[in-house]
Amino acid sequence: MTITPTKIQKKTDLLALTLPQLQQWLVERGEAAFRAKQIYNWLYKQLATDFSVMTNLPQSLRKQLAEEASIGPMIVRSELHSKDDRTRKILLELADGKLIESVLMLYPPLGESSPRATVCVSSQAGCAFGCTFCATGQMGFDRHLSTGEIVAQVLHFARELRATPWTAPGLPGSTPIDHVTNIVLMGMGEPLHNYNNVLQALRILNSPEGFNLGARHMTVSTVGLVPAIRKLSQEPLQVNLAISLHAPTDELRNQTMPVNRKYPLQELLAACKDYIAATRRQVTFEYVLLAGVNDTPEYAHLLGKLLAPLEQYAHVNCIPVNATSASYRAPGPDAIRTFRNTLFEHGVSNSVRAERGDDIAAACGQLRTRFEKSNRTTAP
Ligand code: SAH
Ligand code: SF4
Repeated sequence: MTITPTKIQKKTDLLALTLPQLQQWLVERGEAAFRAKQIYNWLYKQLATDFSVMTNLPQSLRKQLAEEASIGPMIVRSELHSKDDRTRKILLELADGKLIESVLMLYPPLGESSPRATVCVSSQAGCAFGCTFCATGQMGFDRHLSTGEIVAQVLHFARELRATPWTAPGLPGSTPIDHVTNIVLMGMGEPLHNYNNVLQALRILNSPEGFNLGARHMTVSTVGLVPAIRKLSQEPLQVNLAISLHAPTDELRNQTMPVNRKYPLQELLAACKDYIAATRRQVTFEYVLLAGVNDTPEYAHLLGKLLAPLEQYAHVNCIPVNATSASYRAPGPDAIRTFRNTLFEHGVSNSVRAERGDDIAAACGQLRTRFEKSNRTTAP
């Protein structure tokens, strides 16, 4: 049994507070509201991990912060870098011992576009939706992550890049990248199942006085929770939306994604159409390619027919499945090419996600699965 000291439980995680909330928190303690901006600067621009470095705050306030507040405490239990060092995955232990994964993906500059550093963020420990090809889905649901636990994952990699900027190998003249440019809610868990904490974290990371990451550099990926997609379309913060589609018929989707029984394709597509009408933004449809299951020319044709009416507002991201303990395999290059060409014939724009980080268990949930398995086998 683990006993958490009550003092830690009472501490306020500052990474969970928006700037106005931090101002209020300080005012409630008799402090001046302007201190909040100073603290925000320390947290999100200087990337401080300790109150003692916040030298423009009075000593008494620093002491009080140390006693009453925390800065997203998490322990890195394991860290893996891919051979090319462009994919770095960490296993984080939360205050209650739960384990989650976060990934940093580094992309060299391409043509006119600048290099990118994308953090793949977890929104829950485990997941309640049980997709058959997903390692996280096979764990079941532990709990929602708090806002601060979501923000802290991004800050971890921001600090790492600040300390050691990354230069693409083979491009010695290119500018090193020293900050996080994008975040994707594609780690463990279903972000729209933890709607409030996820949106709060995105608002905090978007704050110009703080981390200042543009909404267009944030992507929320969902299994297809229809009411939450509708709610998201009304948010002032216009993030990118990705829908995990993975099958073009209810029959097939019911088999691989149990959520489809609750929100079948017709309802999901209707919500996407309304989202597009409300936001005028393109939606990405993720399609994990499972050889012999959903990658046949017939399914490509059905997918093309399903999405063609969305015209330029739909983009399909074909993702060859990362092998998990389930027996799915990724299709070969010929099958992928045929699948994509069929989509093009329907006028549906699409791309294929380059496989990366396979050597470090890239698909989320796999590192934790491996870690727990090896711990079980080595435990007395
Ligand atoms: N719960 C959300 C976000 C997390 S999963 C969602 O499902 O969208 C992020 C993406 O990884 C989803 O598109 C998901 O279907 C995909 N994914 C899950 N398991 C995978 C695997 N084994 N190989 C490749 N992609 C996988
Ligand atoms: Fe959950 Fe997404 Fe995995 Fe499905 S794919 S089980 S929704 S994390």
